[in-house]
Amino acid sequence: MLKVVSCVSGRWAVFTGHPGNRLLSAKIHWASGPSCQKSDLRSSPSEIPEMPSCNFSPEEYKGMSKARMIEIRKQNCNPMTMKVTYYKKPVFIHQGYMQYLWDVDGTQYLDLFAGVATVSVGHCHPKVNAAAEKQLKKLWHTTLIYVYPTLHEYCEKLASYFPDPLKVVFLTNSGSEANELAMFMARLYTGNFDIITFRGSYHGGSPMTMGLTSNAAYKYPVANGLGCTNTMCPDVFRGPWGGKHCRDSPVQTTRECSCAQGHCEANDQYIKQLKETLATSVPPRIAAFFAEPIQGVGGAVQYPKNYLKEAYKLVRERGGICIADEVQTGFGRTGSHFWGFQGHDVIPDMVTMAKGIGNGFPMGAVITTPEIAASFTKGVHFNTFAGNPVACAVGSAVLDTIIEDGTQKNSLDVGTYLMTELAKLRDKYEIIGDVRGKGLQIGVEMIKDKTSREPLPPEDMAEIFEDVKDMGVLIGKGGVYGQIFRIKPPMCITKEDADFFVEVFNKSVHNYMERR
Ligand code: PMP
Repeated sequence: MLKVVSCVSGRWAVFTGHPGNRLLSAKIHWASGPSCQKSDLRSSPSEIPEMPSCNFSPEEYKGMSKARMIEIRKQNCNPMTMKVTYYKKPVFIHQGYMQYLWDVDGTQYLDLFAGVATVSVGHCHPKVNAAAEKQLKKLWHTTLIYVYPTLHEYCEKLASYFPDPLKVVFLTNSGSEANELAMFMARLYTGNFDIITFRGSYHGGSPMTMGLTSNAAYKYPVANGLGCTNTMCPDVFRGPWGGKHCRDSPVQTTRECSCAQGHCEANDQYIKQLKETLATSVPPRIAAFFAEPIQGVGGAVQYPKNYLKEAYKLVRERGGICIADEVQTGFGRTGSHFWGFQGHDVIPDMVTMAKGIGNGFPMGAVITTPEIAASFTKGVHFNTFAGNPVACAVGSAVLDTIIEDGTQKNSLDVGTYLMTELAKLRDKYEIIGDVRGKGLQIGVEMIKDKTSREPLPPEDMAEIFEDVKDMGVLIGKGGVYGQIFRIKPPMCITKEDADFFVEVFNKSVHNYMERR
């Protein structure tokens, strides 16, 4: 049980709790509003960083025990739930509010992973909650065989965020489903079959999208991926080519290059690789090219600035359509633009979305041109839950909230600040190889040393990961070798939260280096 001792005049509180609870020794400063306290960034890493607090109190947890939950998880939930459980000592989540989560013991966490880049505007955001509650009282479900206002309000609103000719919306229930639909339509429209994606990408786990996904961990030894080919990922940090101006990020790699500003030799090399794939691995006419504007599960991998523009041209010359997977990068996360593709100065023929579209509500979408959409009417496709009234009400409220809360600008400001601070740690520690991303789509690539750039082994990653969690911050992991920490929080985090994380990360890496 948690005990709180607070000093009324000084507004400081000391928590006590279960042995092993990090709050045993944590000192918390109560802020008077939802904004949180400023940490001292330059504190010695031997001190325990202070968690920013907010004026929200979670309900007291009275549910089943942690041991019972694990027992049920092992016996009745499928074995994948245990396989994907993060941490040696897992986190038992009870409640969330904006960028914070509380576990069943009342311990507060700063959530910098957002349920895998999904909680876009904040856990249980009051405006989104209100929209969902209002719709739940009116109509839960009806399907597309009837005409109802929420669907039309939402489709019109979502389409208004896209440039012409991207105006026709298909709603789905998930990202994999959106990408399957995109594959299907690309093939129907072009009459071609082959689809190209990047090595190291993740576009879904369904049997069809598994072919797009290029990461051994997510592949099964069953027939999949017919007609899917992977090309070299233009990764300017880990790949064979890269320099100091390549990517659209406030932080560049520490690699040297002699390219003049505005010309990127790495880009030329990676485009050559794509040309080779087109010349050797697919027929002369292809159906599509799928790419995320910044890789998500792949670890915030960024490409040279002109790569997508040149790749789109090559793909279109071969009859293919260009598909931007905005499942992670959409809805303002990259800060500079609402959609990640806009940062590459391209207009795709199709865009797929999910995750942040519903702030955690299960939904996805595909948007495309009227011409491509028309190809779908050759047959009849029916999806029971697509366009569910509650999903549409939630999606609509998410779009409004992004505008009303200035979420995109916050992503840009806090994300740029956080990356700049993390780059200082990269310069300090031999095992931090790269800090990159845009807005709040951030990756920190961990390596054995700066000369070899070999990935930091999984056991070492796990130590730092657990330590960061024990100090109160939830982050993610990714990359083909599991060597990248992923930071994609609810887009409402503050600079104080960023400061707190930088302190925690500094201390965790410092602790690891001391033990090594
Ligand atoms: N595309 C990308 C870029 C993703 O990150 C994911 C999920 N991690 C998907 C597609 C698949 O989405 P879902 O899990 O909703 O099927």
